[in-house]
Amino acid sequence: MNPISDIFTGKAVSSGDILLELSYLIAALLFVFGLKRLSHPETARKGNLWAAGGMLLAMVTTAILHRNDAGNGIPMANLMIIIIAIGIGATIGWIVARKVKMTAMPQLVSLYNATGGAASALVALLEFPKAMAGNVGSLLVTILGLIIGAVAFSGSLVAYGKLDGKVGDIRAGYMKYINLVLMAVTLLFGAWLIFSGGNPVEQIWAVWLLFALALLYGVLFVMPIGGADMPVVISLLNALTGIAAAMAGFIYHNQAMILGGILVGAAGMILTILMCKAMNRSLLNVIIGAFGGGGAAIDREMGIMKEITVSDAAVLLNYSQKVVVIPGYGLAVAQAQHIAHELDNILESRGVDVRYAIHPVAGRMPGHMNVLLAEADVPYEKLVEMDDINPDMHNVDVAIVIGANDVVNPAAYDDPSSPIYGMPIIDAHLARNIIVMKRGAGKGYAGIENFLFFNDKTRMFYGNAKDSLQKLAAEIKNM
Ligand code: NDP
Repeated sequence: MNPISDIFTGKAVSSGDILLELSYLIAALLFVFGLKRLSHPETARKGNLWAAGGMLLAMVTTAILHRNDAGNGIPMANLMIIIIAIGIGATIGWIVARKVKMTAMPQLVSLYNATGGAASALVALLEFPKAMAGNVGSLLVTILGLIIGAVAFSGSLVAYGKLDGKVGDIRAGYMKYINLVLMAVTLLFGAWLIFSGGNPVEQIWAVWLLFALALLYGVLFVMPIGGADMPVVISLLNALTGIAAAMAGFIYHNQAMILGGILVGAAGMILTILMCKAMNRSLLNVIIGAFGGGGAAIDREMGIMKEITVSDAAVLLNYSQKVVVIPGYGLAVAQAQHIAHELDNILESRGVDVRYAIHPVAGRMPGHMNVLLAEADVPYEKLVEMDDINPDMHNVDVAIVIGANDVVNPAAYDDPSSPIYGMPIIDAHLARNIIVMKRGAGKGYAGIENFLFFNDKTRMFYGNAKDSLQKLAAEIKNM
């Protein structure tokens, strides 16, 4: 049933059908409006609410107004099951989202991606027998929904395990060939299912085999990925979840699902392409899980790390002209954004020019540093993107690296065996002086040594970032 096309073909359309389609249109507008507002930290919270309102509207009107081809609404017993399921899902989602720390956000996003992918794959599995009786178009969307949903599901679970430190990397060079072959086999098998028109009983077995192949591909393509490349993969998996949901929407001829899925898929795909560009990776490499260098970082003379005292750091900063703050994951863990802004205000009041250098994957989610610094009311114009700050880094008197590691690691330039090789970094090593704030000898997310810390110009300021910044701010105030 599609009331819009029915209007044009002159078929009888009930007012309920028209109302339902109208509500989908309003929901779609709310999704777009919400998405637009999500693009700025100041409006993002409200944007999320607008889009959630659109989804609620589509769910309520579907429950009340949906009619099947025989003109019957959703039976009361089914409606009760739906309401209970939504209640359980919403309660779990609410509790988990309220409890999760901002630094664990990628894990939560991965789990949401996994559930979205699983839901779409299950819809496709359930509806496959009906699609077999339909045309090539309905089989195509069902098979695509099944493959993409299953890949998004298993891939997101592996991504969750990796982000949470429960699953390690398999970085063998041959993995990309296995993945290429497995992807081709899965797609060809899916195409065979669409066009073979074989025995329905055999087809049901075949569709379960296809499901298993897609699940395996999801696991194997995320397995070799690690270190600095996880954010790109999370973004790709998010896009796949959206596309799978759109396929499920096509299966049910549901405009709200189609539009919602396409918006998530398109936004996720744009983000993936932008992140690929920012991280100097190709999209094909993401899809077959071929990333970074193949082996362990090269062995070389490391030298020694030199410490700096609070008073020396205070003098250095106080008499500088240009200071660049490079925030990273440690700043988020320490919740040091407010005190970082306070230090920046003190320095600015003494005529020092302070800016913040933002790396696209600093922290643990895209835009993590922007969100943290916005929370501390750091003016947006002080945040400078990596590509804009790097050409000026050699003019900077002091680069203060606060809890950042991988995003300032020069191994990305000069160590082809490093897992972060080829990734752009913030060129902290070009500054005249570098102060690194961290607690000890802890490595970054990629788990590799950072030669910036052994650089002659670098001084280590050990301690929890918040405590270190508090001491430093107090010392400068007293000068
Ligand atoms: P890193 O994870 O490379 O390094 C963080 C550093 O912070 C550690 O070396 C740690 O050292 C220090 N640290 C931890 N806690 C504190 C604290 N309380 N006070 C002071 N320092 C602390 O962070 P980056 O931001 O440089 O890089 C982000 C990494 O995460 C990249 O590899 C990126 O690819 C990956 N990633 C990013 C995602 C995203 O979307 N942005 C998603 C998933 C992964 P020590 O223990 O010695 O204190």
